[in-house]
Amino acid sequence: MRDEKLAVNQVRSECAFCRETTVHTVALEQIRTTDGGAVAPENVKFARAPARVSRCDACRVRTVERV
Ligand SMILES: [Zn+2]
Repeated sequence: MRDEKLAVNQVRSECAFCRETTVHTVALEQIRTTDGGAVAPENVKFARAPARVSRCDACRVRTVERV
């Protein structure tokens, strides 16, 4: 593997899909925790949660972890 410099939002970690250590691009995103249909408008903000989304640069599979 090339020893390329990683950007600040990149980490090397094991990809469950590639089954090897690859570069992942990491971003924090707000994810919906419900399908939205059953949430009262005043509770919509509680139906979103920050998540750490890492995308394998090799296979493009995204992994979402609640934080
Ligand atoms: Zn991968």
